[in-house]
Amino acid sequence: MNFDEQRMLMVTRQIQARGVHDRRVLDTMARIPRHLFVSESRLSSAYGDFPLPIGEGQTISQPYMVATMTESLGLSGNERVLEIGTGSGYQAAVLSELAQEVITIERVESLGNAARKRLAELGYGNVEVIVGDGTLGWPDGAPYQGVMVTAGAPSAPTPLLQQLDVGGRLVVPVGERHTQILEIHTRQEKDKYKVHRETACRFVNLIGKHGWS
Ligand code: SAM
Repeated sequence: MNFDEQRMLMVTRQIQARGVHDRRVLDTMARIPRHLFVSESRLSSAYGDFPLPIGEGQTISQPYMVATMTESLGLSGNERVLEIGTGSGYQAAVLSELAQEVITIERVESLGNAARKRLAELGYGNVEVIVGDGTLGWPDGAPYQGVMVTAGAPSAPTPLLQQLDVGGRLVVPVGERHTQILEIHTRQEKDKYKVHRETACRFVNLIGKHGWS
């Protein structure tokens, strides 16, 4: 099976079948060449129903997790989105096709630099990759209409809640070091947030001032 066929099956069997219905998310994930975000030795598994190692002890998330987290932001195309945990750059690429602008922060310098190069080569011109502690957010770009954390946190980092626009959503896996629940925080008013808890999940740790030590 070629990559196009594998990608279509990924969308129908892994993502749509589990209840993700946002057409824009499905179409975007049916288009983006996920195999270009993994190493050559992982090419044959690029469209598998699981996360994959990307080096430095980190992973590219399972396609379904990418889809459901993206859907939960409810993007329409005009948003500025902050992602914490660039990793391979795949999630940033998905967000970049669904929002106006994406700022993504990666803690591990080698991963951040590789993702910046990859995204530029693939033509994702509306993504800025920053190397640093994403738990602090990026105040220069705030407020954000969407924030996504792609690593597991002990709690939703306060700076990220503060940098959320009124009406904006923060999606973050929260829990223990080895297992979390996906939380969606909506900033309803300046001082009023609503939290909704969804799927159980398992992410690598968010390490930083407002994450794990
Ligand atoms: N979104 C990525 C992708 O599409 O490939 C997958 C991200 S991976 C599951 C989690 C990433 O979060 C790792 O690359 C890790 O280094 C990064 N990370 C952990 N703590 C961080 C922090 N405080 N700031 C920024 N990145 C962090």
